[in-house]
Amino acid sequence: MGSDRRFLFDAIIEHTKTFRYIFLSLNILLFPVVYLVVYFTGGTQYSYLHIMYIPIMMSAFLFGWKGGVLAGLVGGFLLGPFMMLDTSAGIEQPFMNWFYRLMYFVLIGLVLGYILDRLREQMLRMLNLHTRSFDTGIINYNYYLKHRNIRASGEQRVTMAVVVNNYEQLTSLLGRDAYIEVFQEFYRALKSVLPVKALVFQVDFHRFWVDLSADDFRQIRDSLSDSLEKVTLYSEHIPLYLDYSIGISMPSPRRTLHERFKESDVAAMHAKKQSLKIVMYHDDHLHDEMMLKRLGELPLALQNDDLFLEYQPLIDLQSDKVVGIEALVRWRHEDKILYPNEFIPLAEESRIIDDLTLWVFRRVLHDFKELYAIAPDVDIALNISQKNLFNKDLLDTMVKEIEASDFNGRHLHIEMTESSMMKNRMSTSMFFNKLKEHNVKIIIDDFGTGYSSLSCLRDLPADTVKIDRDFTMNLEEDPSLAYLVEAIVDLAHNLHLKVIAEGVEDQDILNRLKAIGCDYVQGFLYSKPMSKEALFAWLKERQAT
Ligand code: C2E
Ligand code: CA
Ligand code: CA
Repeated sequence: MGSDRRFLFDAIIEHTKTFRYIFLSLNILLFPVVYLVVYFTGGTQYSYLHIMYIPIMMSAFLFGWKGGVLAGLVGGFLLGPFMMLDTSAGIEQPFMNWFYRLMYFVLIGLVLGYILDRLREQMLRMLNLHTRSFDTGIINYNYYLKHRNIRASGEQRVTMAVVVNNYEQLTSLLGRDAYIEVFQEFYRALKSVLPVKALVFQVDFHRFWVDLSADDFRQIRDSLSDSLEKVTLYSEHIPLYLDYSIGISMPSPRRTLHERFKESDVAAMHAKKQSLKIVMYHDDHLHDEMMLKRLGELPLALQNDDLFLEYQPLIDLQSDKVVGIEALVRWRHEDKILYPNEFIPLAEESRIIDDLTLWVFRRVLHDFKELYAIAPDVDIALNISQKNLFNKDLLDTMVKEIEASDFNGRHLHIEMTESSMMKNRMSTSMFFNKLKEHNVKIIIDDFGTGYSSLSCLRDLPADTVKIDRDFTMNLEEDPSLAYLVEAIVDLAHNLHLKVIAEGVEDQDILNRLKAIGCDYVQGFLYSKPMSKEALFAWLKERQAT
């Protein structure tokens, strides 16, 4: 009932025009009716004249302050020079009598109309906020939920997810405002190639969902891809490459419409992975559906602290001392422990990766305080994802929290893989240079796997290079790898960078790395990643010996 009432109110606000025409005729009729009532009840000496407030108020409601003032004037005159004080005795009204009343009517019309104007404005704004996306103004899921009951429920519906894959590159290239314009243009293009009755709405900053009838879908299924290919989007007259994928879910009696939108998302994800434009949802995608479900659980896991960190020590090869630890995230999930490769790539598909990084960052700051108390020479490192580079808010928050903390970033290292850095060089410099201003050190992770030429090392804003474990592990078997590692170490040292070798599992390799001149090592030979408590115990034991 409550929602029906709200629906009616929304409808009045949204369809003011229609209501105006209906009530206008009714209202015009009311003036002569009130006039006659006052006339036949004996004139303005009796209080029946107050009925005139009804059409005045109604005009103010329908037409705002202008309507209110006009109605006040009309009502005031009708009950003014054209009406007697006492109709049976034939006594005329004194001028001041009706003139004051007229002013009063006008004032009421004006004030009421003004208030209602503002109220309507506010309501409209709220309604828009609820049913339209905040930055693009495009209708959203709430709008869809409200209007879909209009659609025949028995009809077979097809759902689609249309995802812009390169929106992060576009936002960093064009800026947010220009991206929004491109996204709006894409929306219009999408609507123009889809049947008129298809409902297209925005789900997030790079994704639309589409609901259309199976019949409509049949008409466009073969031409959709071609028609979209023909669309060119521009920003400031520069043609842009918008990389998108479309996932489609066909009608199925087993699934609700909402589940089918999710299926479309999964199919779109597949399209992106396989560099295809359009993919139909298929039962083989069930695995991804499970992953998507997991992705849905991740925000809650963050809230409930179901994630935790393990730490792996970093050892100085010269002194054999522990100089750092690296935080590695894990997820306690349904009595199993999930490792990063089982959920980080998923989180990277959405903005959740920013929340995850922030969670790790905060936990690291927190744990560092305890670490500092027992081992003040040990630094701490965390991993971040390339997707984080595009979130300025995240960077600002991190900087603020570093400023607020006691150690001012001096002992903090941030790792990102070489390939991620190379793929986003502009954003990488921007992001890391800001952190470096706060004394944070940057580590290029998995170095050697990014296939960039060694000379690129000079251009990256890094302090340390971490040679990938594929190199370290095969150092003994493959002599050419040893040369390569030597070359990396030399070059890094020439550029005043430190070198870490990760994945050190045996003593021979350790000796080899020492001979090559590597600075630090990390690996199972010393320790596997372990809980904070285990790490502290381990550190104390080493300090004792
Ligand atoms: P990574 O940064 O290269 O981390 C090192 C990985 O190698 C860890 O796997 C670690 O357990 C493993 N490892 C360490 N020493 C040895 C060794 O001697 N031998 C072998 N075989 N493996 C060793 P893990 O914890 O599964 O992490 C995998 C990747 O997940 C990490 O690779 C990192 O890229 C990512 N990751 C971990 N934590 C986070 C995080 O908090 N945020 C982000 N964005 N990524 C994370
Ligand atoms: Ca790492
Ligand atoms: Ca690594």
